[in-house]
Amino acid sequence: MNRRTFVAGNWKLHKGPTEAVELAKALKGDLMDLTSVDVAVAPPFISIPGVANALRHTGIHVAGQDLHPAQNGAFTSAVAGEMLKDAGCSYVIVGHSERRSIFQDTDELVNAKVHAAFRSGLLPILCIGETLEERDAGRALDVVRTQLQLGLEGLEADQVAATTLAYEPVWAIGTGRTATPDQAQQMHAGIREWIAGQYPAFVAKQIRIQYGGSVKPGNAAELLAQPDIDGALVGGAALQSDSFLAIVRAGA
Ligand code: PEP
Repeated sequence: MNRRTFVAGNWKLHKGPTEAVELAKALKGDLMDLTSVDVAVAPPFISIPGVANALRHTGIHVAGQDLHPAQNGAFTSAVAGEMLKDAGCSYVIVGHSERRSIFQDTDELVNAKVHAAFRSGLLPILCIGETLEERDAGRALDVVRTQLQLGLEGLEADQVAATTLAYEPVWAIGTGRTATPDQAQQMHAGIREWIAGQYPAFVAKQIRIQYGGSVKPGNAAELLAQPDIDGALVGGAALQSDSFLAIVRAGA
C-alpha cells in the first residue's frame, strides 16, 4: 500500500489574521504544483477563515489546532468541530502534547475530541508521544500504546484508518533535538504493529503516521524516507514559507 505523504504545519500561537493570510499566500503558489504530497496548515482559530479563503481551490488543507467535544453550549471560549468545518477546515489536531501538559487534556478528553472530529466531518490528527523521563525508563512504546488505546476507544476500523497519527516525542518538540531516523522508525513500526494487532489488516496498511519534533529542512528527507514515517507535523519550521516548503518538497 502506497500511503501519500502528509505534511502539516502547526502554527500554534503565531500568525494573527493579517500575518496568517500573508503566509498562506506565500505557500500557495509553490504548493499548488506539488500534487504528490498532502499538505495542511493549522492557524490559530481567529485566523482560520482568512487562511481558508486564501487557500480555497488550492488543495492545501486547513486544520484546527484543537476543538471542544460539544457541538454548542455554555462553554466560554470553546470552538466546536462543526464551527471549524463551517470555517473551511478539513482536519483538526487533537491531543497535542502542549494541550496535554499545559491544558491538562486527558486521554479520555482526547478520545471525546476524536469522536467530535468525526461527528463534525473533520479528520483527526491524533498526537501521541512520550516524555524524556518515560523514554529513559524504557517505557516509550508502552506510553504511546496506552495513549492510542484510550484515544482511539470506540472508533470504527474505517475511522481509525482515516485518522492520522502524529508521533511526537515530547523531548523533541521545540527543543531542536530530533529523534534519529532510526529511533523514529522504530517507534513508528511499533505503533503500526500495535494497530495491526487491534484492527483488520487494512487499517495498519492505510493509517498514516507523521513524525513531529524539530523537523527542519535539514533532517526532513532522512526522516521521511523511513518506511513507516508517512509525513511530518511541523511546528517552528512551519512559520516561514521557505522552511515549510523545503520540508514538503523533501516528502515529494
Ligand atoms: C509541534 O508542535 O507539533 C512540533 C513538532 O513543533 P516543532 O517542530 O517546533 O518541534
